[in-house]
Amino acid sequence: MSDKKERSIANQEKTVDSEVDSKKAFSLLFVPEILAEICEYVESPKELYSLSAVCRKLRDLLWSNSIMTQKIWRDSRFRLEDKKTQPPKGMSEQQYIWLKHMGVSCQYCRSTSTMKNKWEFKRLCCEECVQKKTTSRSELLKKKIPEELLSCLPYAQTISHFTNDVFFPIHHGSLDDSCYYWTDDVYAILAEYNELNENNKKAWLEKRQTATNEYIAYINEIKSREQNELIVDIFKKFLA
Ligand SMILES: [Zn+2]
Repeated sequence: MSDKKERSIANQEKTVDSEVDSKKAFSLLFVPEILAEICEYVESPKELYSLSAVCRKLRDLLWSNSIMTQKIWRDSRFRLEDKKTQPPKGMSEQQYIWLKHMGVSCQYCRSTSTMKNKWEFKRLCCEECVQKKTTSRSELLKKKIPEELLSCLPYAQTISHFTNDVFFPIHHGSLDDSCYYWTDDVYAILAEYNELNENNKKAWLEKRQTATNEYIAYINEIKSREQNELIVDIFKKFLA
């Protein structure tokens, strides 16, 4: 056999070997424990999002709510120096990171203008879409939505119609026309309520109201923290 032919065969074998190696490495990614170890080397949640877009299997693993996956995302968030906060009860790390750090465009129209009321509605939404997708408390009451059901939902409260960019804590007990609810959430909770057995409704309402009150306290805390961070940033720039 000529030297040239031997070299060509050796090169082909090397290529096949490296293909086998990369296939083996790729298949190892799907072992959750190995994936978790690999993800320790991922620098930021942005890289995790990119990894989850590689294939369906990785997306399923990285979008799950398993304890291991939640830890993977939490650790990546910690690498952004965000160690003092945690997602509210019932919100996954992925959704929290998306709302807090990563999402930059409205999930309905893709506009990148200022997002409004993301914590209240747990969505990234521009001002125009928020206006289309919310209904005022007084309108909902006119449509015979039970008042006690509205107290099971977080809402946005504005100083004037959707113009508040400053922190404005929300309180139960001062509800008026400036309170807006996510319309689809209102009708979803109404459907759930109507499905309940009459005997279970009272306990269900109490449980939901307690959870909503806790969430409202959480929103006020996170907004206050965001505002403090903003002020500190401005002062740092001013003093630099
Ligand atoms: Zn929009």
